[in-house]
Amino acid sequence: MRPVDCHCHLEFEKFDSDREEVIERCRNELKFAVTAGTDLESNREALKLEDKNSDIIKSNLGLHPTYEDSFDDVEKVKEQIRANEPIAIGEIGLDHYHIKEGVKRREQEEVFNELLKLAEELSKPVVVHSRDAEQKTVELIERYDIPEVLLHCFNGSSSLARTASQKGMTIGVTTQVLYSKRVQKVVESLELKDIVLETDSPFLYRGSRNEPVNVTESAEKIANIKGVKYEDVVRETTKNAERIFG
Ligand SMILES: [Zn+2]
Repeated sequence: MRPVDCHCHLEFEKFDSDREEVIERCRNELKFAVTAGTDLESNREALKLEDKNSDIIKSNLGLHPTYEDSFDDVEKVKEQIRANEPIAIGEIGLDHYHIKEGVKRREQEEVFNELLKLAEELSKPVVVHSRDAEQKTVELIERYDIPEVLLHCFNGSSSLARTASQKGMTIGVTTQVLYSKRVQKVVESLELKDIVLETDSPFLYRGSRNEPVNVTESAEKIANIKGVKYEDVVRETTKNAERIFG
């Protein structure tokens, strides 16, 4: 069994110089990697990457909560999602860390609600960003009937992580688990059935560029934290990833 990177951004510029090699390393070590679009243009790029590398790359289409200049594109993004039927809608969500202004937060919430509504209508999983707005994000999601929810890069409290997992949501554990005590605590408090691996590449790797195969390091760390075997972490998290992304 191989691990899955449930959330990365391979379409980002940071991979322009060696994207093919990065994807080749995914082929050698992973079951698959899911690249998430963040606006109209990056959604298009994510689709192209999946087209060209359908054996190993899957794509999500969304509208990122920090892309405030693109909020007006929400109807076009919805059309794009309807036209391409991605395996999941993401990256979407709320971000109160970058967006502080009340008016912008309300717009962000409207965009999120629009895309949650679409996920319910199309019966698609969602991949959700929730930085510094974890509680509110979970509350909004609960208003909709959505088949699978991945709380990507979850940085809330351990107790909210447990509550969300009891509601059937899955917690994305990024490579932050290698160095963040808070993420390590969240992992301690959850069971393997509640988590998936992700890198959020190119971000979150001790200051240097991250890439999908680094989920293997996370799996080792999680095995350590939980006192189980590496293979157990990979088997369980891959099973969860396949349940979400098929
Ligand atoms: Zn992301």
